Amino acid sequence: MSQKSWFAIVTPEPSNSKKMPLENSPPRVRFAPSPTGFLHVGGARTALFNWLVARTQGGVFLLRIEDTDKARSTDESTAAIFAGLEWLGLDWDEEVVYQASGLAQHQKDADRMLASGAAYRCFCTPEELTEQRKAMTVGKESFKYDRRCDRLSEEERSARLAAGLPFVTRFRVPEGTTEWDDLVHERISFPNKDIEDFVILRSDATPIYNMAVVSDDIAMKITLVMRGDDHISNTPKQILLYRALGVEPPKFAHVPMIHGTDGKKLSKRHGATAVADYQNEGILPSAMVNFLALLGWSPGGDREVMTLADMTKLFSAAGLQKKAAVFDPKKLEWMNGQHLSRIAASELEPLVTPMLVQADIVSESELVERREWYLALIDLLKIRARTTHDMVRQARPYFAARITYDPDSTAKSWKDVDQTLTLLQSARERLSKLHEWRPDSMEGALRALADELGVAAGKVFQPLRVALTGMSVSPGIFEVLEAMGRDLALARLGQAIEHIRPE
Ligand code: GLU
Repeated sequence: MSQKSWFAIVTPEPSNSKKMPLENSPPRVRFAPSPTGFLHVGGARTALFNWLVARTQGGVFLLRIEDTDKARSTDESTAAIFAGLEWLGLDWDEEVVYQASGLAQHQKDADRMLASGAAYRCFCTPEELTEQRKAMTVGKESFKYDRRCDRLSEEERSARLAAGLPFVTRFRVPEGTTEWDDLVHERISFPNKDIEDFVILRSDATPIYNMAVVSDDIAMKITLVMRGDDHISNTPKQILLYRALGVEPPKFAHVPMIHGTDGKKLSKRHGATAVADYQNEGILPSAMVNFLALLGWSPGGDREVMTLADMTKLFSAAGLQKKAAVFDPKKLEWMNGQHLSRIAASELEPLVTPMLVQADIVSESELVERREWYLALIDLLKIRARTTHDMVRQARPYFAARITYDPDSTAKSWKDVDQTLTLLQSARERLSKLHEWRPDSMEGALRALADELGVAAGKVFQPLRVALTGMSVSPGIFEVLEAMGRDLALARLGQAIEHIRPE
């Protein structure tokens, strides 16, 4: 049965739930990942939205590790979730809650429902259930437990218990309709007749997901549950549990799924889905959170580039969207370029320095010695870079004694060998005669050269750019010359001349 046929999204009454503040009192929200893999982009997006709700409204953002599935949960995943959240700058309040440690409370809550009659013991064995399922799914009707154990007489029940027969605890779904005003989807309504009496405790007395979540959310005093809309079908069951436990359910907000650019649910087929992969690919945390925020939310207008601090001023439930969000890695790169060009060099330094050292481009002590120059270089390179890896690639010519030349660039800009040689030799000679290694004097000398050769200035600058950097794209030629410094720039021109026509 498809999820959609399960529930109805009802056009709301004039009530405009989206315009209302999320909460009257400061919200308590949580991010509740299962530690069965790395922190993926969908989880990080959900964490971010919850964090923003808390931080925009003076609320509390809690972290709960849902580690009840012992076979699949690992400490490594838990550590990766912490690391990912920390990298993104999403700090949480209070102690981390581990769901497995709430077992006694989960059982207590389930037993409370058993005692009140909201739940009952079911002794049906898996084989019996399979038989029942077979008998019931002949037509189109899908299987729903027929409550036979709820009809056991007191004596039969006591006899089975006395015989030590295993049982699960089932919640008795009442008649009626379960509905709520979702902060994203507005009113959602499920007929209870479509919900079977679901298990809340297994035969080993461990809780089923919905039981553990509700029990924990009550214990943690959660006022708003914000999660992916793949959980919509769990929500009516959870609301029923709250009511049976005599607790007012929290508000719910189900944020849209994330799709790849092909419109299919985001998966490994689309490329990297772990936040850490993007960290390794040279994406800045500020760009990543900015990109994630726009997966299902918009601040309105054309505004796209924002810091986390900006978002804490702009975030509101009114900007949450229903339609699936599209994860476009190209947009993420673009976003990263935007953040790179806005971020201070001193902030980029701690990210870029280890990368330069690791790539064997320069030693850390040299960078410390020339710090002012180095910060100016970062400012120069960050404008054209899309990732910090791009910056490292582009930084090489400013340090390396020798460089290699990009074949496409040489094919394009050094086409006429004789002309290129004349040009590079003359440029080198004129630059070497400059009294001051300053952009205005370089410009004067190189423009005069272009005039004398009877060519447009670009015809001088472009071959020179390839000679200096090995690439056709770089900062302005005078900035390149200045940042490289006289000695390295002149040596580099010498190397290019030699490369074109070895003696
Ligand atoms: N552990 C669930 C998940 O990772 C969380 C569900 C919830 O937020 O209630 O999808």
